[in-house]
Amino acid sequence: MLIVSKDSIQSLLDKEREAHKSSKNTLTNQISELNNQISDLNKESTTQNARIANLESQLKKLETQLKIKEQENFTQKNTIDNLNSQLKNKTDSLVMLEAELLKYRPKPKPKKPEVVEDIKSGFKTVEIGEQVWMAENLNVSTFRNGDPIPQARTQEEWKKAGENKQAAWCYYDNNPANGKKYGKLYNYYATSDPRGLAPNGWHIPTDSEWKTLIKYLGGEDYAGKKMKSKSGWNSWTSDITCSNCKNWNAEYRSKTACHVCKDTRLNGRKTHSGNGTNSSGFSGLPAGERLWNKFYDIGELCTWWSSFGDVSVDSGIPYSCELNAWSTELIPSTLSPERGKSVRCVKD
Ligand SMILES: [Zn+2]
Repeated sequence: MLIVSKDSIQSLLDKEREAHKSSKNTLTNQISELNNQISDLNKESTTQNARIANLESQLKKLETQLKIKEQENFTQKNTIDNLNSQLKNKTDSLVMLEAELLKYRPKPKPKKPEVVEDIKSGFKTVEIGEQVWMAENLNVSTFRNGDPIPQARTQEEWKKAGENKQAAWCYYDNNPANGKKYGKLYNYYATSDPRGLAPNGWHIPTDSEWKTLIKYLGGEDYAGKKMKSKSGWNSWTSDITCSNCKNWNAEYRSKTACHVCKDTRLNGRKTHSGNGTNSSGFSGLPAGERLWNKFYDIGELCTWWSSFGDVSVDSGIPYSCELNAWSTELIPSTLSPERGKSVRCVKD
């Protein structure tokens, strides 16, 4: 049996009370502390809320401004699109207008070669590419030193000059009127005479100088047309088709049989102009040529001498250039020195 005294109970109770009091005090202190903390937190929260409210308000303002800007941008974009579209329309009409205008604008004429008169010697000249050429055939009857060049007045004299390798000139058909129109015909011995056939400051073109001219005028096949004068050349006719097989009859000029069926009859003749465009200013005229025994092809062709330069005449056959009525070519060829041909000089 447990026996407890009144005193000990009292003492226990006191102890208990003391402990309770102490713990109550501690708790009170803790509560007070927590209350303080809560109060602090509340204060802080109030400040934070105010800050948030402030930020939210700023945000709203910015959003509003952004909206306004977007609206402005949209309006501006529309305006720009509108202007661009207007600009495109204007450009389109401008392009169309320019195209329309081009139709009415006169086409620029190709630069006309300038034929000028050489004051010293009194003949016409023309600049073609890098070269300066005489724009008419040589018509002199003296060498550069003043010595006369013998004129061959008869067939016999002409033939003799050739045989003796002596310089000579003549008029086509011995007719001075032809000289006035076409210049004189010279044999090669006149062009190569050391006394000089070309006037001072000029020389007989070498074959490479002719080739330079041909190249500048687009090659052998095209140079002739640009070098021939616009009038003065005979027209020529060609047969268009074979009478029998109707094929193109290219054989007509040589009067031979059709290459397809061998028929010899002619059919469908066509007339062609023999003239050129003279777009070079060279002004080539059909002066004809002289063989030892006859004149031939005035109105049809012209041939010009070239020089060997420093090379002697004995080293080969002189080279010459030919224009004719029936082709657009400038044809280089080699022919005998006793022939009578025209002379064009080129500036030194
Ligand atoms: Zn035929």
